[in-house]
Amino acid sequence: MACGIPFHDERGDVQDCEPESLCRRCLLGIVREQAGELERLRNPWRKTADELPEDGANVCFVTECPNDKWYHGRVLGGRFMAGEFGGFSVPGLMVRASHWCPMPSFQG
Ligand SMILES: [Zn+2]
Repeated sequence: MACGIPFHDERGDVQDCEPESLCRRCLLGIVREQAGELERLRNPWRKTADELPEDGANVCFVTECPNDKWYHGRVLGGRFMAGEFGGFSVPGLMVRASHWCPMPSFQG
């Protein structure tokens, strides 16, 4: 995570950016990464427009089929199949989804 580039510390001394003394840019990078991780824990739902699950992954998803009032906007649990004819599926149904999140794991 340390870039190794020299920088001026708060006393004006020159330091090399190392794991024990990180430059401001590296510190900010860590803070942003942690903030992103926290946000993911707080809200595990991901937009399919931003990111898709791995092929064959078990996921929960929000159906997106505006012409079908019964299924549109429902949360279902099933599997994601990648590819041209893929989508989010439960037995007997393959649909588009607006959001998905990983299925909770019972293996800790
Ligand atoms: Zn650095």
